[in-house]
Amino acid sequence: MNAVEGLAHWGAHPAYDHDPTEAEQEWLRRCREGRWLCLSWPERYGGRGLGPVEIAAVEEEFARAGVARPRLGMGETLVAPALLAHGTEEQRTRFLPSILSGQDVFCQGFSEPDAGSDLAGLRTSGSVDGDELVITGHKVWTSDAHKSTMIFTLCRTDPAVPRHRGISYVLVPMADNGITVMPLRQMGGTYGFNQVFFDKARAPLSNVIGGLNNGWRVAQTTLGAERGGGVTTQHLGYLQEWGTLLAVSRANGSSRHPLIRQRMATAYAHVRIMEFSGLRMFSRLAETGTLGPAASINKLFWSEYHRDFGELAIEVLGLTATVLASEGVPAADLQRVFLESRARCIARGSSEIQRNIIAERVLGLPRDPAPRE
Ligand SMILES: Cc1cc2nc3c(=O)[nH]c(=O)nc-3n(C[C@H](O)[C@H](O)[C@H](O)COP(=O)(O)OP(=O)(O)OC[C@H]3O[C@@H](n4cnc5c(N)ncnc54)[C@H](O)[C@@H]3O)c2cc1C
Repeated sequence: MNAVEGLAHWGAHPAYDHDPTEAEQEWLRRCREGRWLCLSWPERYGGRGLGPVEIAAVEEEFARAGVARPRLGMGETLVAPALLAHGTEEQRTRFLPSILSGQDVFCQGFSEPDAGSDLAGLRTSGSVDGDELVITGHKVWTSDAHKSTMIFTLCRTDPAVPRHRGISYVLVPMADNGITVMPLRQMGGTYGFNQVFFDKARAPLSNVIGGLNNGWRVAQTTLGAERGGGVTTQHLGYLQEWGTLLAVSRANGSSRHPLIRQRMATAYAHVRIMEFSGLRMFSRLAETGTLGPAASINKLFWSEYHRDFGELAIEVLGLTATVLASEGVPAADLQRVFLESRARCIARGSSEIQRNIIAERVLGLPRDPAPRE
């Protein structure tokens, strides 16, 4: 067994401002050395060329050993799928190895103050100057920008054409490049995301993925990038949290209250539904290689479950919930779930947007009226 002592992280999601512990860094190093990262990438870029079924089998083995398989952040989960689908060979050989080695750490500069759900309304501009793109604009909610070396961003490179057609997807270095990162603090006190200002930031045209003005298509690949391999194990973190809450509830006597008992039972049923629907999604993955719109059902289900679980946790904690608990005690972890889980109903596409996708693409209902081009 190669696992490092003191690895287990609590719960379904690490804190927004979580910094890797020494044990996690060592675990990442061992997984990198053993080639257990970026499993779906072709071998020539440092992956293993595994399909979704094989990846799910690996995830289950890691889960059985009680450890999580590390991910290399948005570089692995969001940029790499775009590079593999739309990048040139030169771009793949430039960026994939540097994502794998940890040299390039990416953040996502998509959302703007007036362009979130309606992303195509973005205003950040990109103009060609020789063999470079010069970028000016304002991005917001940029997770981990303060820890990143590169930002993958969308900018408008042709304002004269219909808005989906004049957008480019570009990888921009962040250091000494006219980019200012300003922190945004969340209600739990954590600092996980930022505003990012571009003031004539420069990127070589060779960093534009999928060609100039073709960024919308590339962005769809990033937005649809699914962590398929984890669908059969994702319920485990939620089960761990539920077990912690049960212990608190038994200890403070709230488990004797019939309504609390009923809500605990409902929460448990939801975690089991996540487990079984994970198996169903896995069958689809095995057959088609993609989750398709089922990814929206999954995202909606876990994010809203987690929000409701956070509310239940605060009720179970009772008066204890009103005192800000210190790190490492169950109350602190449960308070964090309450404070952070609501944002996950917005991040990566809000619940309303997921419901629109499910209505249109799964149930075949009439389309939501689109904003005018
Ligand atoms: C924790 C967190 C991390 C994030 N990290 C990043 C990041 O790293 N990079 C990045 O680029 N962005 C990031 N985001 C931004 C996120 O993608 C946007 O917040 C999200 O897309 C919603 O956009 P908005 O905030 O502009 O809300 P709006 O789009 O203004 O929506 C406001 C409300 O209107 C609803 N609404 C909008 N359109 C419709 C519609 N057609 N039908 C029904 N209801 C609708 C929404 O559901 C929402 O309730 C993050 C957000 C959060 C909360």
